[in-house]
Amino acid sequence: MSDSSFIKDFRLTDSERELDKKVRPEEFDDFSGQEKIVDNLKIFVQAAKMRGEALDHVLLHGPPGLGKTTLANIIAKELNVNLRITSGPVLDKPADLAGLLTNLEEGDVLFIDEIHRLTPIVEEYLYSAMEDYRIDILIDKGPSARSIQIELNPFTLIGATTRSGLLTSPLRARFGIKALLEYYDSSVIQTIVNRSASILNIEINDEASNEISIRSRGTPRIANALLRRVRDFAQVKGDGRIDLKITKIALDALSIDKLGLDEMDNKILTTIIHKFRGGPVGINTIATAVGEESGTIEEVYEPFLIKEGFLNRTPRGREITALALKHLGLDDFGMQKKLF
Ligand code: ADP
Repeated sequence: MSDSSFIKDFRLTDSERELDKKVRPEEFDDFSGQEKIVDNLKIFVQAAKMRGEALDHVLLHGPPGLGKTTLANIIAKELNVNLRITSGPVLDKPADLAGLLTNLEEGDVLFIDEIHRLTPIVEEYLYSAMEDYRIDILIDKGPSARSIQIELNPFTLIGATTRSGLLTSPLRARFGIKALLEYYDSSVIQTIVNRSASILNIEINDEASNEISIRSRGTPRIANALLRRVRDFAQVKGDGRIDLKITKIALDALSIDKLGLDEMDNKILTTIIHKFRGGPVGINTIATAVGEESGTIEEVYEPFLIKEGFLNRTPRGREITALALKHLGLDDFGMQKKLF
């Protein structure tokens, strides 16, 4: 099914995680792109430091792999405070959250990844913590049960989400700083690829890093992952140096097409064309037809397909565009022949 998808498969082996750690930017100055967001964050961080206060809560929104976790790390480092990391699905009960919150030191950063996946009860519990640095804790059980209020150290919550549409408005309203991360231009991705290559001592020429950047869907995580895979090919099939030829061989072997679309992207597009006459068709129907979860399609695949102009989201469902037909080598006429 989706095992054909390089793009979705973000699971790293232990040694790859080590490599990832090495290339992950630790300071604003090493973080390429997203200039406006970075410039603003620098100001807010500096102002909070000057006042000796906790930074306001920050909501980072954008597709996977664009640097939300990296930014949370950088912010905590620049603030010179501890970073505690958790995620929405892990915080099952209010008690889990209470444990984390009561252990925060003054000014610490709590990073909650996939914050849209908090249960409503945990989310509600978060409100008073965010607003007044205060939580209620239930002690005892049965008739003697009562709740006591605990003061927390002022802290900064950084929430990350791939689906800000799923956030409730009361939660969203409690973030003073909101930033939407966009896909990166390929020139910025090329800078990231070159930086990673130099940190990892990989020899790569400009043509090759350009090719990798074009096929990385504007996503640093994918660019770094592709660099590692291309390096494997260069080592086994060449002399270890990465040039355009070995890059193309590797990317073709990984079924990443010339615009960075992988098999699942192409399957989504061709399915809409061949099975649903180009759409409009609902996301759940597409998901069933391609054998992928609708949430994954919405979070991982669709945003890029829409951004590239291959797919339109209409009130009646998803619709294929003329550009997608062209990319797949199906002009209008070809499509008509297939459909009728
Ligand atoms: P997210 O949390 O949005 O899914 P991450 O912060 O985990 O994404 O980023 C994935 C990887 O991509 C990081 O390990 C980092 O090495 C790299 N990365 C992300 N953004 C940048 C950037 N702006 N500059 C350089 N590398 C980046």
